[in-house]
Parts: sequence; C-alpha cells; structure tokens
Amino acid sequence: MKRIMNLAAETDGRLYKSSDPVRMKCDGCGGKASCCRATDDTIILDPYDMYELEKTLGGGFAAGYGKYFELRVVDGITLPYLMKSKETGACALLGPDGKCRIYTHRPGFCRLFPLGRLYTGDGFSYILQTGQCPCTMPETADVTVAGWLGIENLKKYEEYALSWHKLTESRQKAATELAVAASKPSPASAGRKPGTVEELVALSMQLLNIFYVRDYDLSRDFYEQYYERLEQITKH
Ligand code: SF4
Ligand code: SF4
Repeated sequence: MKRIMNLAAETDGRLYKSSDPVRMKCDGCGGKASCCRATDDTIILDPYDMYELEKTLGGGFAAGYGKYFELRVVDGITLPYLMKSKETGACALLGPDGKCRIYTHRPGFCRLFPLGRLYTGDGFSYILQTGQCPCTMPETADVTVAGWLGIENLKKYEEYALSWHKLTESRQKAATELAVAASKPSPASAGRKPGTVEELVALSMQLLNIFYVRDYDLSRDFYEQYYERLEQITKH
C-alpha cells in the first residue's frame, strides 16, 4: 500500500538493510498489544500472507473471507485486509489473552511494524517509523532487521516482495488510467467510453482471483507458485 510519508518527521531518518541492527524491542505493550487493537483496515494481505493463513487456518480464501478478512479498494485495485472483531474492535486474530493466534504465520505488515519499506527505483530500504509504538527504544540495538522480521529465506522473500510491489503498482497505475478514461465522455457516444468500467473491474478481479481466491498447494513451495501465477497474469 502506498503512503506518502514525511521521512524526516515520521522516521528516525535512516535507511536500513536487513543485516543492520535496529533499536527496537517489543514487550507486547505489557499485554495490551496496542498495535493489534488499532488495525482498522490497514493490514493489507499479500499472496504470501494468504499462503501462510491457509496453512494456519486450515483453509484458503473461501474459509477466511468474512471471518478474518474482507476486501477493499486500495489505490484503484481490490485487495483483502484483516478484519476487526465486531465485539472488541481489535484484529480478528487477536486472542483473548492479548496474543496473536497465528503468531508464527502472521502477515508481513505485522512482522514489519513499526518498520516499513521505502521503495526506491529497483529496490527498497527498511525504515523505522518513530512515535507509533513504544518498541523504539533508543538505548537498545540488540536486534537486526532480519531478526525482527523472522522470515525464513529472507533474500527470496525480499525478491518476491519487490516483484509483488511492482505488479500492484503497475496495476494501480492502469486502474487509475482506466478510471480517468471511464469518467470522460466518449466523443462518439456522448457517454462514457464503452467498456472502460468493465475493463477496470476485470483488471481488479483478475489479480484477486489469480493470487488470492485460488487456493495454494501447501505441499509446494510458495515462491514457485507465485512466479507461475505471475507468468500467467503477465501473459494477459
Ligand atoms: S509492536 Fe509496539 S505497539 Fe505492538 S505490541 Fe509491541 S510494543 Fe506494543
Ligand atoms: S494478525 Fe496477529 S499480529 Fe497481526 S494485527 Fe492481528 S493479532 Fe496482531
């Protein structure tokens, strides 16, 4: 998800790579798990998250939709996000003990927080968003970015994250262009240009169907399946 940031005001001003030490520590906010209680609709799931959810919840999109995640439009394309519990207002996957019910399979957004990614040209750096939680402890630097994320085979994951960012960014650009075209009257028909709204919906649904709705084969490596699906979508 794109977000325009004021880097000087919202981060510690540094750009990190995965091997860099970073000054953070999480104590679960003394059992309050503040970040998991203020998610609203901000935790957007990517295909790797969907694969991990499928593993831990025992079912894919059909099993989790409406229970753990819903859909919303993010910069022109439709993507799933983690739902809030109607009773508590916290993330639907936060247990009554204040612990994440899927901790070892938690989404990438949750693993990162309060880190973020700043995409620059053909890569990205990690950034530390300050003032968002009490984890940023200036006196400690006992964890690396890679250690904080705790993702197996991080290099492969980072290549995938960049690939997914590029794909969603290009789809968002295409969706914006189609939305602009759809809003303009066509000179021929004196109405909107024929087909543009339909194209816009198809563009959004194609991404959703290929990378989320179709279950992953959990006996196979995620990345193999992601790149197969990527090849399929880029052929269209
Ligand atoms: S990541 Fe930060 S806000 Fe979330 S539980 Fe840990 S200390 Fe609290
Ligand atoms: S999935 Fe887990 S870590 Fe992420 S917001 Fe929900 S409870 Fe917190």
